[in-house]
Amino acid sequence: PVVTRFAPSPTGYLHIGGARTALFNWLYARGRGGKFLLRIEDTDRERSNPEATAAILQGMAWLGLDHDGEVVSQFEGAERHAAVARELLEAGKAYKCFATQEEIAAFRDEAKAEGKSTLYRSPWRDADDSSHPDAPYVIRIKAPQDGTTVIRDEVQGDVTIKNAQLDDMILLRSDGTPVYMLAVVVDDHNMGVTHVIRGDDHLNNAARQMMIYEAMGWDVPVWAHIPLIHGADGKKLSKRHGALGAQEYQAMGYPAAGMRNYLARLGWSHGDDEFFTDAQARDWFDLDGIGKSPARFDTKKLENLCGQHIAISDDAALRNELQAHLAAAGKPQLNDVQSNDLERAMYCLKDRAKTFPELLEKAHFILVSRPIEPDQKAAKALASVSDGILSELTPQLQNASWSRDDLEALLNAFAEAQDTKFGKLAGPLRAALAGRAVTPSVFDMMLILGRDETLARLSDVAG
Ligand code: GLU
Repeated sequence: PVVTRFAPSPTGYLHIGGARTALFNWLYARGRGGKFLLRIEDTDRERSNPEATAAILQGMAWLGLDHDGEVVSQFEGAERHAAVARELLEAGKAYKCFATQEEIAAFRDEAKAEGKSTLYRSPWRDADDSSHPDAPYVIRIKAPQDGTTVIRDEVQGDVTIKNAQLDDMILLRSDGTPVYMLAVVVDDHNMGVTHVIRGDDHLNNAARQMMIYEAMGWDVPVWAHIPLIHGADGKKLSKRHGALGAQEYQAMGYPAAGMRNYLARLGWSHGDDEFFTDAQARDWFDLDGIGKSPARFDTKKLENLCGQHIAISDDAALRNELQAHLAAAGKPQLNDVQSNDLERAMYCLKDRAKTFPELLEKAHFILVSRPIEPDQKAAKALASVSDGILSELTPQLQNASWSRDDLEALLNAFAEAQDTKFGKLAGPLRAALAGRAVTPSVFDMMLILGRDETLARLSDVAG
């Protein structure tokens, strides 16, 4: 069975790159009936903080990336990590190194001065126990010194490293704390991780991590190191390019489904498919489709996909997501009436909205209350209609049957009687009902608002 994991360091919010890594692991596991685990890599006590963990969990919850089992804290596993270092020591695959910082620094200075490799070779590697001083030591792994290490990577292909370039990495510091590299391997092994999908900034780590797997005789997971994300200018994604946090995208009003679709396409492809559902993504996602070159972040494409996802969303679900967006953006919540009307109106709102703010703009007629302050264009539309026309319309609507067909017939007949076309009346009616020039159709608004509210709004402007 497939087991993947997302292993963020809790030093900040969930950024776009992390969200994409989490998504790839989630899709890979979910598409194969496997498990997707979450491990918080909080061994660096100074840089880790609980707010960051909360923000990461919140971002994943927004994106619907549910994980299996408990959240694993790497720090809490420190004892187990240290035990593995001691096990390797017992087995003669690691050794105690008593070299001091000063000795190592002096070695490096000398090597540099002589133009030799500065890779530290500890004299303690082959020293026998009887020569050990009673002094602090670190535990180092006995790295292979000849031959090569091959990382069989599903994305990068075979990456060959000369073992002569590997140093005897420290596993356990002199204060008895395990190093990060050891923690990752022990955790992945204990968690039964079969596939490690992560940023290619970790490719070099894989070579060092392989040493530990091999020394322990553990199965090496399948590696898939994915290229990082770049901005539209082809440079590594950074603050300069604008928003980086998943939460910022939620606050800007991108729907989670659109974001998932877009992030899935960021570095992975399935033929020419751009728009797809979650079910399709789960079915289609594989490691073969991950590209070797960095993907570029493209807001236009994100918005386009978001628009398509809004259009096919279930109305009630969309309303709920919109409410979550308002909360994330720190905007006022909808009251029950608004929320109910919004759901009923969703059919005429969701067609061309790419984001929730756009959807809310179209829903303005539901969210606004009387007296409605028209915006500039609406005020102009109201001024364009000759005096008295709207007040002539009101009594006719009083007794009309409130159905789309009947209202359409009534308004067309009314326009004709005024020697004009309905099209000429639509602007002023939009302005009266919504205070805006761009709205859903007049009929949609009338049906959602109902007779009383429609008449009240018309009377307000009829003068
Ligand atoms: N904690 C690492 C990071 O945030 C990920 C390590 C891994 O996936 O092995 O970049």
